[in-house]
Parts: sequence; C-alpha cells; structure tokens
Amino acid sequence: MPSLDMSHPDVMDKLVSLCKRRGFIFQSSEIYGGTGSVWDYGPLGVELKKNLKDRWWWAMVRSRDDIEGIDAAILMHPRVWEASGHVAGFVDPLVDCRACKGRFRADKLEDAQCLLKPSKHPGEYTACQLTEARQFNLMFRTFMGPLEETASVVYLRPETAQGIFVNFLNVQQSSRQKVPFGIAQIGKAFRNEITPGNFIFRTREFEQMEMQFFVEPGTDDEHFEYWKDARMKWHHAIGLSPDRLRYKAHEQLAHYARAAFDIEFDFGGTLGFQEIEGIHNRTDFDLGRHQEYSGKKLEYFDQPKNKRYVPFVIETSVGADRVTLAALVNAYREESVPGEEEGRTVLALHPSIAPIKAAVFALTKKDGMPEMAHRIANDLRPQFPVDYDETGSIGKRYRRQDEVGTPFCITVDGDSVKDGTVTVRDRDTLKQDRIAADALAGYLKERLQG
Ligand code: ATP
Repeated sequence: MPSLDMSHPDVMDKLVSLCKRRGFIFQSSEIYGGTGSVWDYGPLGVELKKNLKDRWWWAMVRSRDDIEGIDAAILMHPRVWEASGHVAGFVDPLVDCRACKGRFRADKLEDAQCLLKPSKHPGEYTACQLTEARQFNLMFRTFMGPLEETASVVYLRPETAQGIFVNFLNVQQSSRQKVPFGIAQIGKAFRNEITPGNFIFRTREFEQMEMQFFVEPGTDDEHFEYWKDARMKWHHAIGLSPDRLRYKAHEQLAHYARAAFDIEFDFGGTLGFQEIEGIHNRTDFDLGRHQEYSGKKLEYFDQPKNKRYVPFVIETSVGADRVTLAALVNAYREESVPGEEEGRTVLALHPSIAPIKAAVFALTKKDGMPEMAHRIANDLRPQFPVDYDETGSIGKRYRRQDEVGTPFCITVDGDSVKDGTVTVRDRDTLKQDRIAADALAGYLKERLQG
C-alpha cells in the first residue's frame, strides 16, 4: 500500500524528464515507440549505477574476508526453478477488465487505477467487468537449442540467488571458506511483471545485488540481526536520508522464510515508502531442495565440531535500479540561489556516487585560460571522471553541473594563469576555495571518499 504520509513531494515526472534530457536514463527502443517498462542507461546513468554497484561490491566483498564474489550465468538448468519453487509458485493473480481492457494484479487492485475512471480502483466503477483471477507465472520462458519444444524450455532467471545456491560447494571448497561465510553477486534478473511502472522502480529487466550468508543452524537469528543493521548502514553511507528509510517486517512470510524484513525508502508523493531491499532468513530451504532435486549432497562438514549439516542462509537482496532511483529521488532539489534571480535544480548526490566528480571551466576563451583548464582536466581524468566546459556564462555552466550532481566545479581565471591557483566551488554549500592547481588531486580525493 502506498504510504499516506506525503511529507516528501512527488518528483518522479521531473526526474524522468531530467534523466532523459541529461543522459541518465532513456526508454528502451524509444524510436520504435518504446518497450514496456524496460529502460536504457545513458552516459551519466551508467556511471551512477556503476558507482552504486561498486560501493556495494566494496562493502560486501572487497572489504571483507568472509564473503566471496561470483558471476553466475543467467540461463540455468530448468530443474533449478522446480527445486526453488518458482515453476509452481512464482505467480501473481491476474485479472482482466472486459470494459477497459486493462490488466491488473488481483492482489493490488487498491494500488491500481481504472482506465475509464482513474479516480476509481478497478472493479469500483459501474462499467468495470473484471474476470476471475488466474495465476500468471512471472518467469520469462525461452528455448535452448533449435527445437521449440517442452524438453528445451529454459527460463531467464527471476533472481540471482539460485546461481549462488547451486555453487555453494564449488565456492566453499575452492576458496576454503569456513561457515559462517557468504557469497555475493550482481547480475540481471527478469520478471514478466503484470503491472510494472514508476520509471525504473518496477521493470521487467533489472539488476540485483544479492548476498547469501551461510551459517550454522541455531546461530541464524544473530546473523539476521547483524545483516539487518549492516544493510541499513550501507543505505545511510550512500547518502540516503535516514528519515526516508525504515524497516518493515513482512506480515506474511514466504514458504521458505523464517524471518523477513524489508528496508523501505520514501519515494515521496503517493508512491511513498516502498521496498528497496529484502533481508530474509531462508533457513536450509534452498540448499535442502537442491539436494533433493539434484541428488547431490550440499552439506558442510564442520571439522572442529566434527559435525555435518546443511547451513541456514541469511539473504540480503537489493535492486541496483531501485536503489539508483532512490538515490536520484533523494538527491533531487529545486532551490533559490542567494543573489541570483534564477533558481537551480540540483542533484545533491553523495560525492562517491556522483557520475562526474569535477568540472573544469576556463573563465574566458583567451589569455591561456583554456590551455591551463585543459591541462588540469587531463591531469585529473586518470583519477576521477571529469568534464571540461567552456561554453556559456559561468552561471549557466554551474547550473548544468548542479543538475547532474557534480560535487566540484574548478574555474581557471586570469589570476590562475599568473599564480597557478584556481577556484573550487562546492555544489552544496556554494562556497569557493582558492587553491593551488597542483593541490587539486589531493583536495578532491579527500572530499570524494565514501
Ligand atoms: P516487490 O514486492 O516490489 O515485487 P519482491 O519482494 O518480489 O519485490 P524480491 O524478490 O525480494 O522483491 O527482490 C529483491 C529486490 O529486487 C527488491 O527489493 C527490489 O529492489 C528488486 N526488485 C524486485 N523486483 C523488481 C523489479 N521488477 N524491478 C526492479 N527491481 C526489482
């Protein structure tokens, strides 16, 4: 249910337009009229999402010695999805309306609008003619090899987790990890959602960042609490405002889960608080089922305790696209600027995820300023993504960088050419520091760290 607390304004339409105009996100196959709920990341969007994925990878894999990374294939043996329960159970109830030809999720009618009378929910308007609900499997099916027959059906994975479960022993044995330890991966997942929407919030092709932490049964509650806390701290660290984040306990637990919490972010407007990450205690369900379906033992032998068991799994699962949207919504501001008539639109992104870290300007196109500014940009570029801009007034150039979230703007002026100093303007405070050009790399590094 969308939250009724509208303390944060709805900025979605403005963001969709900014994202297209400035090259963050485009509709897929736009010149053909677009593909339903599939989006392409442009030059700045790909950097933003990559920065978020890098921060996740750093927090979950690189900075720890108890989590290993993998990159499993999207196509898996079809039995995987029987074992996981997706063939039988990854379904949503679907209803059609014979009057408006709309198609809705039967369990989410209160979130949907009647196509003939948008102020009503489907079924509430007198003209509505809803069909009985039927179960619709969300997995995309395709065929492996040249024959389009039942025996060659394969699925595009609807979650990345199963690639981790089936590789549990491969990773444990090759990396010689001891329980408790985790396996993490970032990768594409596909769901044929009935009612996708809200820009990149719910799409049919998306990326997940998932980590499965394998623990001894009986210790799962303490590990669950640890990850619940650690994941919330990560969202704070990437700059999401704490007052827009909250936990939500699942009212109904999935068949495999012993405990489940979502981390919700307030997207503002009527969308309100929505899940961005799930933290689940999946027990030994998945490894147990894969054992049963594959006939291969997936047990761990605990040498010091001289006992064998199927580990429990604490899972953390976050959508890279959904967290990108949260970061954009969180960062979007329209502000007035002291001493200036025109206001500004600014993306106050955390510097560590901003797509461009610094922009370099020559105040005018003469007196050696462009040459010096180019030199500075070229020197910084191997270390940070930087932009060079010499067109339009300085005010306009600031506005362009503010709108894409560039934390620092460096200006080369007449004095710079004489004394080797430049001004650095801070996106958020608008304060300007005058510093030596050869101290720039250190100055930026210090301020860009996550
Ligand atoms: P929802 O209730 O929103 O459908 P879910 O509970 O099915 O989500 P999970 O299966 O727990 O989601 O997936 C974990 C994460 O993957 C979600 O928190 C979300 O960030 C992301 N995710 C899931 N489905 C989508 C989608 N269709 N588009 C974008 N991201 C998604």
